[in-house]
Amino acid sequence: MKNKSFITLPKWHRLLLKAMAVGMLCFFVFAVLLYILYDPGVSFDRKLYVRQFIIIPTVSQIIIVSIFALAVKFLEKHVSDWIMTTILSVCITSYLGVMVSIHNSVPEMSILLIYPIFGATIYNSRHIMIMQCIITMSVYFVIKSFIIPIVTVYEPVNTNRTYFIIFIGLTLGAVIISFLLRSVSTEIVKKSIKEKEKLEFAARCDQMTGFFNHRTFYELLNEKIKEYDGNSRFSLIVLDIDNFKRVNDRFGHASGDKIILKAVDIIKENIRSSDSAFRYGGEEFAVIISDAGEDTAAKIAVRIVNSFYNRKNGFEFNNEKFSISAGTAEYSGGSAEEFFNRADAALYYAKNHGKNQCVKYSEFVLKEA
Ligand code: GH3
Ligand code: MG
Ligand code: MG
Repeated sequence: MKNKSFITLPKWHRLLLKAMAVGMLCFFVFAVLLYILYDPGVSFDRKLYVRQFIIIPTVSQIIIVSIFALAVKFLEKHVSDWIMTTILSVCITSYLGVMVSIHNSVPEMSILLIYPIFGATIYNSRHIMIMQCIITMSVYFVIKSFIIPIVTVYEPVNTNRTYFIIFIGLTLGAVIISFLLRSVSTEIVKKSIKEKEKLEFAARCDQMTGFFNHRTFYELLNEKIKEYDGNSRFSLIVLDIDNFKRVNDRFGHASGDKIILKAVDIIKENIRSSDSAFRYGGEEFAVIISDAGEDTAAKIAVRIVNSFYNRKNGFEFNNEKFSISAGTAEYSGGSAEEFFNRADAALYYAKNHGKNQCVKYSEFVLKEA
C-alpha cells in the first residue's frame, strides 16, 4: 500500500489507542450513570444490569483494546500497512460493536459503527474507505444475526431520560473523533508550513555549496544598510579563486567543483556564526562580517587565503597548490552596489598584483592615490 495518509501511521495508531482508552472510560462512567439514574420499575434486576451493562462490555473492550495495543507494539514493524490497517479497523469496529450489542434496545446505537468510516478518511485511500465500509457492514451483520439473539436477556422500556443520556454518549463519541481529526489537521498544517519554509530556504541558497545565493546577498546587505546608524560596524570580504579557468582546463569541470567545495569548507571554518557567507558567482564568494571593522575582516580573509593555499590537494590534482584572492571593505555609507564595488575593486587590485593575497579597500585607496 502506498502510504498517502495525512499523518504517519504509527502516530495515528497511538492516537487511536488513546481515544479507545478514553472512550472505554467514558462508556464505563455512562453505564454507571445509567445505573444510578434509570428507573426501570419492577422488572429491574440490579445484578443483571451490572453483568449486562458494566461487566460484559468493560471486559470485552479491555480485551479488544489489549489486542489493539499488542498489535501496535509487536506487529507494526513486521507486517504490511495493509494488514495492520485491517487488524486495527476490525478492532475499532468490534470495540464500538460491543456498545451496539449491549444497548441493542436502542436502534440509534448502530450509528456508532459509522464512526470508523469518518476515521478512515485519514488514510486518504479509496481502498481503505471501501474496506472500512465492508468491515462496518460485516460487524453490523454479525451483531444483528448472532450476538443480539444471545445477549438480549433484558429488554428495558426506554424512557426519554435514557435516550437523552445515550444521545450524550453518542455525541461524546463524535467529539472524540473530531479531536482525532483535529490532531491530524494540526499535523498537516505543521507539515505544510515546514515544507514551505524548506522551499523558501532552498530558494535563498545555492544548491551546490549550501551558501546563500547572489539574490540573498543583496537582500541581506540591503537590510544591514537599512539598520546602519553609524555606530554598528560591518564589513565585507569578496573572494575569487585564482586562475580557475586553468584548473577546469587541466583537471576537468568536476574536479573544479571539488576545489570550489574546498573553498566553501575553508570559508566556513574561518567565519563566525554571526557572519554570513554567499556564493556570489561561479567561483566567487562574499562574506558579510557583522559587528567588525575592516581590520577584523582582513584578518579573516588572510586566514582564508592562507588556508586555501596551504591545504593539501591530493593525488587527483598532482598535489598542486591552488590560491584564492580577497578584497575587503568596511561600510561607511552608500548603496549595496557601491559597497560591493569597493571590496571588488580591492579584489581586482589583489588579482593584478600577484593574486593569492588579501587587499583592503582602505589600503587600495592609499596605493591608488
Ligand atoms: P582570475 O584569477 O583572474 O580569477 O582568473 P580565473 O581563471 O579564475 O577567471 P574567472 O574568475 O573569470 O573565471 C571563472 C571561471 O570559473 C569561469 C568558469 O568556467 C568557471 N566556473 C564558474 N562556475 C563554475 C562551477 O560551478 N564549477 C566549475 N568547475 N567551474 C566554474
Ligand atoms: Mg577566478
Ligand atoms: Mg571569477
